[in-house]
Amino acid sequence: QATTILDAARPLDVLADFPAIPEGWAYLDTAATSQKPQAVVDAITRGYAETYATVHRGVYQRSADMTLAYEAARRRVARFINGAEEEIVFVRGATEAINLVAHSWAGTQLKAGDRILLSALEHHSNIVPWQMVAERVGAAIDVVPLTDDHRIDLDAMAAMLTPAHKLVALAHVSNVLGSVLDARRATELAHGVGAKILIDGCQSVPRLAVDVADIGCDFYVFSGHKLYGPTGIGVLWGRADLLDAMPPYQGGGSMIDRVTFARTTYAPAPTRFEAGTPHIVGALGLHAAIDYVEAIGLDRIHAHETALVSRTREALGALNSVRLFGPADSAGIVSFAVEGVHPHDVGTILDEAKVAIRAGHHCAQPLMEVLGVEATARASFGVYNGPQDVDALVKGIERVSRIFG
Ligand code: PMP
Repeated sequence: QATTILDAARPLDVLADFPAIPEGWAYLDTAATSQKPQAVVDAITRGYAETYATVHRGVYQRSADMTLAYEAARRRVARFINGAEEEIVFVRGATEAINLVAHSWAGTQLKAGDRILLSALEHHSNIVPWQMVAERVGAAIDVVPLTDDHRIDLDAMAAMLTPAHKLVALAHVSNVLGSVLDARRATELAHGVGAKILIDGCQSVPRLAVDVADIGCDFYVFSGHKLYGPTGIGVLWGRADLLDAMPPYQGGGSMIDRVTFARTTYAPAPTRFEAGTPHIVGALGLHAAIDYVEAIGLDRIHAHETALVSRTREALGALNSVRLFGPADSAGIVSFAVEGVHPHDVGTILDEAKVAIRAGHHCAQPLMEVLGVEATARASFGVYNGPQDVDALVKGIERVSRIFG
């Protein structure tokens, strides 16, 4: 439960829920990982200090209770994105989820001559696994370009798609630019040529209400640690018929039906994809994180972050030395460059002013090439940020310009 009393009509003010954000520190790196509310810390602590036991095996009560809690977390995730319980696979994070689909679905469904469609703004974790499987099976990769205002160009995508395209994989929200994909239209386009579509929801689930049934996509992935939950837990949602037909990704305990040296049979999905002892307490932490964001409300979070993005773009845009990337209606993320100053220097000077941003290629080197830069400075927002953080950022950038001016 959120400790702060929430009133939908008042501006979001939940900073006090976050014990690791000290007074006066502007934490603007939520796109890399979010800070954790006390409710999540408490759920993790309780999981280890009070209720800990293994799941799915123990004959004793404590283990049966933990199994119920672990499966309740799965149901909570399902409800959160409007999927079915048996369509939720717990993984380590989005990276593992994409590798699972690349290995288990693409690795068995794609053949030489097939094509995969990605976009120019994808995170490396939504590029490299596809390259690895494409190389293995002899498939090719095409890249959808961006519009002038740095969105995935769906008109270009419509023109590029052919029946040879078997899979499309796109970010719902860009981790560098904050550009929001029209996921429904992208799905319709992919399905129009018979391709499956995976949506990388790492940056969308903390910022937008996501409904996989409404989108109509085939796979949806995200990481818990960007959604105010723990690291080491993430989600692959896959349509039941697809998961049911996919072979296991990893072998081991818990994912089997029966093992003999002659032949092993596997458990149904999602158990089949959860080999080994899972991140039990991570699932409990993720459950608490989803409760936390839904208690605030994603519509409210979106409105809050949109206001912060507008304030940032307006103030930075007024500085002659700053170049802004991405569309004006970015979700929670602003990338920029300060003329003549390396983003790392921008980040270092901001750190002295207690403003934490990210500087670098953000695991999106192909996008840096499109933008014509080596790296960008990136400010990304979360529920705990307020106008004071934007003002500290802008003051810091003015100082950067003075120092290098
Ligand atoms: N996709 C996007 C859009 C991301 O922002 C990230 C994390 N930066 C990932 C994938 C990979 O997530 P993880 O490192 O948690 O597996």
